[in-house]
Amino acid sequence: MMVILKTIDEVRKQVKAWKKEGLSVGLVPTMGYLHEGHQSLIQKSVEQNDRTVVSVFVNPMQFGPNEDLESYPRDLDADAKLCEATGADMIFNPEPSEMYAEGFCSYVNMTGLPDALCGLTRPVHFKGVCTVVSKLFHIVTPDRAYFGQKDAQQLAIIMRMVMDLNMDIEIVGCPIIREEDGLAKSSRNIYLTPEERKAAVVLSKAVKLGQKLVADGEKDAKTVVDKMKALISAEPLADIDYVEMVNMDTMKAIDRVEGHILCAMAVRFGKARLIDNFIIDCRNVDKNE
Ligand code: AMP
Repeated sequence: MMVILKTIDEVRKQVKAWKKEGLSVGLVPTMGYLHEGHQSLIQKSVEQNDRTVVSVFVNPMQFGPNEDLESYPRDLDADAKLCEATGADMIFNPEPSEMYAEGFCSYVNMTGLPDALCGLTRPVHFKGVCTVVSKLFHIVTPDRAYFGQKDAQQLAIIMRMVMDLNMDIEIVGCPIIREEDGLAKSSRNIYLTPEERKAAVVLSKAVKLGQKLVADGEKDAKTVVDKMKALISAEPLADIDYVEMVNMDTMKAIDRVEGHILCAMAVRFGKARLIDNFIIDCRNVDKNE
C-alpha cells in the first residue's frame, strides 16, 4: 500500500524503518501533475530499489517573481493513482511551510553551471532547485535519485552538487519521453492552445535536425545552432528564448562540436515556455577518427 505523507517527521520515521530492514530507497523529485515522463523515472526507481519515494512539491523558491507558480497545474489524486500503479511506496507532499519554516535562510548556491542557458532567463531558479533537492536528499536519504534528461542543465547541476558536497547518492539520468509527434512530455504542455500545441512540434523537429547535422559530421557549433534557429523561427507562434550548444559538464559555450555536448533550447509558445535538447558524447567518436 502506498502512503501519502505530508510531514518531514513521518517520512523520516518510515525511511528509518525501511533502512532497518536493509531495504534500498530510490527518490524521484517532482512538481506533480505527473505524466509518462515522470512515470519512466518512477519505473526505473522501482526496478533498481526496494522502496520508491516520489516527492510532489511545487517549490516556490525555484520560481521567479513573474513566473507561473500560482498557475502551475496540480492534481494530487491523479498523481497518487499514477504513482501507486507504477509501484511507488510513498508520496511526500509537503506544504511550503513544512519545507520552509519561518526564518529560513540557508541556501545551496552554485556558481558557474547556473550562469548559462535557463539560468540566464531564470536567475533564481537553480538556487531554488539545489536548495530543495538538498533538503529532499537530507529528509529521504535515498540510495539513488532519478532526474530526467529533459531538464539537462538541472541534471548536470545536481550531479555536480552531489560530487562537490560529497552526498552519498547515485544520480540516475533518464531519457526524454515524448508524445507521438515528438513533443517532449511536460506538465506545462497544458498551457498550450490547440494551435500552439501543433506549432510546438517544431522543437523536437529542431532537435532531430541538430542531431542529424552532428551525425553527418558538422563540427561548427554555430552552423548547427543557426540552422535549428532558422527552423524554429519559421514557426510564427514560436518565440525563441535561446538555442545553444555547450559542454555538458561545464555549461560553457562551445565553438566546435567536440567532447560531451549539450544542445539545448527554450522557446515560448503563448503562456508556455518549453524546453528540449539533445546530448551527444563525441569523445568516443572523436577517438576513432
Ligand atoms: P518536474 O515535475 O517538471 O519538475 O519534473 C520532475 C522530473 O521529471 C525531472 O527530473 C524532469 O527532468 C523529469 N521529466 C519531466 N518531463 C520529462 C520527460 N518528458 N521525460 C523524462 N523526464 C522528464
